[in-house]
Amino acid sequence: MKKIVCALLFSLFLLIALPHSGHAATATPQTKIILDGQELVLPSDVEVVNLNNNVMIPIRVVAENLKFNVKWDQKSQNVSIEQNAKVLSLNVGKKEARVQNEKVTLNTAPKLIKNTVVVPLRFVSEEMGLAVSWNNKEKIVGLTSTEVPPLVDPTPAPAVPDVDNAGWNKVNDISFANQQLVVSVDTLVTPQITRLSNPDRIVVDLPNTTFGDIGSTLQQGTMGKLDVSGIANVTEVRYALFKNDPAQVRVVIEMNNLSDVQVSSQYISGKLIVDLAMTAAIGIPVSPVGNDGGKSIVVIDPGHGGKDPGTIGISNTQEKDFTLPLALKVQALLLQEPDIEVVMTRETDVYPTRPERVQLANTLNADVFVSIHGNSVKASPQTTGTETYYYKRSSSKELADIVHRHLIEALGFKDRKVKNGNLEVLRNTTMPAVLLEIGFLSNLVEEQAMLSDSVQNKAAHAIVDGIKEFLHQSQ
Ligand SMILES: [Zn+2]
Repeated sequence: MKKIVCALLFSLFLLIALPHSGHAATATPQTKIILDGQELVLPSDVEVVNLNNNVMIPIRVVAENLKFNVKWDQKSQNVSIEQNAKVLSLNVGKKEARVQNEKVTLNTAPKLIKNTVVVPLRFVSEEMGLAVSWNNKEKIVGLTSTEVPPLVDPTPAPAVPDVDNAGWNKVNDISFANQQLVVSVDTLVTPQITRLSNPDRIVVDLPNTTFGDIGSTLQQGTMGKLDVSGIANVTEVRYALFKNDPAQVRVVIEMNNLSDVQVSSQYISGKLIVDLAMTAAIGIPVSPVGNDGGKSIVVIDPGHGGKDPGTIGISNTQEKDFTLPLALKVQALLLQEPDIEVVMTRETDVYPTRPERVQLANTLNADVFVSIHGNSVKASPQTTGTETYYYKRSSSKELADIVHRHLIEALGFKDRKVKNGNLEVLRNTTMPAVLLEIGFLSNLVEEQAMLSDSVQNKAAHAIVDGIKEFLHQSQ
């Protein structure tokens, strides 16, 4: 049976259409297809073509690799593709297709070119569970299977060229909220921003940039996606490594309507912020300030960092080495929250200035700002306890009360109360903002506790519980 299928496959190429400008059936040789990070070897008789604004790629090799069961009926010009229990049925020259027993309409009819059947991109990506990306400049089609088992061949895949990443800028985080794309890059990168239509989208290219922490599994051609459900006008945000050498990260923001969107970008506190401000005079609802499709933006600020160690603990601990790991635990928990978009003022041992931290939160129109610190009174090593600061605003006090209560409950440190403090990050931020002094690094017992993963995990859960309670309450 397998042999028959393979023989059938050999005479069958399904092609994927991709939005692209061009004219009928122009051959675009040297196009690469990268499936799950591996470049597929295209037989010499198989070419990627450009057909009426669609880049069409042969999927025979893809289908083979994904173990799709494909049947081609010459007489009826029908292709049927079986994937797990799902059957897709397509006919050459007909826009109407069937998924199981449901009719679907393709935007382009499958076509036979040199024994090659072509189908549109969306059909493949939506119906066959493939994530698809297209790098027009580099002519790379990226396909990512989600539910399909990996290759049968047990021999290890040829290693992706071991690129020395040391020289490239690194992306450590990507998020999208308040009509703003936020990319954490460890170096100032000048993005190349391109507006494209059909579908409307904004392409943000970051030259000489690769993925840092978030992208260890993202090889060239594979892709990640952000959850943008409920965000006005935005249908998809995806990101991929499109080039290895020189490295290049590409983020694509797909939108319903780009015509009234004004794109601007700035770089604050290690974050590239691409702002998609919508002019108000159009029919699309402009998302209200501070509200992004129900998602709340939480800015987590690990105190100090880089050249600024913060206070020094009784065992010569540097405060920055306590604040960052705790803040990263908070980030990890917040990333699990579907209604929260978390943005860090820093993810590594760097020093954003206080005005930068404030500006980041204000620019993002964040809903909550939480700065994490450790206390110290060298002259009084017996002093212990948790204290929480806010400045003036009642909303900040409310947030402080809630988070503080959770911290006291979780850690059991002495309750040093919620206090009003004229601190720059609290005074100059425009949203509910708190500064947490979790405990005293100048006290030996508390210092050891604060440096332990178990206490940090408790603190992280307490902070997240507090933020969630506050957001829930203020809705
Ligand atoms: Zn501090």
